[in-house]
Amino acid sequence: ERNCGGGGDHSRIMVFVRLRPMAKREREAGSRCCVRIANRRDVYLTEFGNENDYLRLKRLRGRHFAFDASFPDSATQQEVYSATTAELVEAVLQGRNGSVFCYGATGAGKTYTMLGTVENPGVMVLAIKDLFTKIRQRSCDGNHVVHLSYLEVYNETVRDLLSPGRPLILREDKQGIVAAGLTQYRAYSTDEPGNGTAFHGNQNRTTEPTRVNETSSRSHAILQVVVEYRVKDAAMNVVNRVGKLSLIDLAGSERALATDQRTLRSIEGANINRSLLALSSCINALVEGKRHIPYRNSKLTQLLKDSLGGSCNTVMIANISPSNLSFGETQNTLHWADRAK
Ligand code: ADP
Ligand code: MG
Repeated sequence: ERNCGGGGDHSRIMVFVRLRPMAKREREAGSRCCVRIANRRDVYLTEFGNENDYLRLKRLRGRHFAFDASFPDSATQQEVYSATTAELVEAVLQGRNGSVFCYGATGAGKTYTMLGTVENPGVMVLAIKDLFTKIRQRSCDGNHVVHLSYLEVYNETVRDLLSPGRPLILREDKQGIVAAGLTQYRAYSTDEPGNGTAFHGNQNRTTEPTRVNETSSRSHAILQVVVEYRVKDAAMNVVNRVGKLSLIDLAGSERALATDQRTLRSIEGANINRSLLALSSCINALVEGKRHIPYRNSKLTQLLKDSLGGSCNTVMIANISPSNLSFGETQNTLHWADRAK
């Protein structure tokens, strides 16, 4: 059962792995493929990409992983969307919240999976498109109001990607934690918002000053899709329903490695990503069925408090590179994903 929530049940998090194709740059550097995916589920990792190693891997602890589904490098954007996110779009139309995260090192394929390209749109665009298709299929489609917002958490500062400007302040009100003044873009159909909003907003993400070529490796981008509609309940009263889907392109995980035991002060000193660490703590607490989930520890987890755990659907897509040059990062990502199950 995907959705536990309440009553001390453990929250179920769906965990997926997506392997990206070998990049030209990696091939030219003489790298070998160190990841193999079998049965759409199992992931085998071998340090040197040696054929013989794969045969022994089932017996090697820490080198064989199994997830809800694992996507080989041939998987299409549509396949990834259908298996990971389509159900959450359906749930949002039942008035339930959900969130989808892309986790992984810089260059592992997070932004490709979430945003994609104009030719091969990713989860964000396909989800909005699918949402409007499903709304049109409903007899009462005129009821539905869809709003999009797109924001960034960078260095514990929240910014509006649809209307760049001063940082936004998080406030707690009756509905929960909200970013004061955040643009709520009213979307009417697939065409303009799907492509336009997500791609346009992405250009506003913070570029890392020290590594100019690797844009946004430390920023978290959060696209939120809120659907409001009216239905008649059993007593034929008209009631309002709201569902929210959050799609998150996380910061690169490489800097958050092996730091879980440090104090927050040294984490800040070392410029470790506080929001990424806090997200890990929340996910571990949810998976372990803890009563207290430490949402308050970062801006990212505060923003997602109403979309993570409890009766929400949570999906994690761990992105990995096939190259043995990224072996360490891939191993860390797989261990992290394994703990989120
Ligand atoms: P990240 O956001 O994790 O830093 P990117 O999504 O930017 O990584 O991916 C790094 C590079 O690999 C980009 O050039 C991207 O287009 C390419 N890439 C990633 N995943 C795929 C894929 N599944 N198929 C084709 N190209 C991909
Ligand atoms: Mg990226």
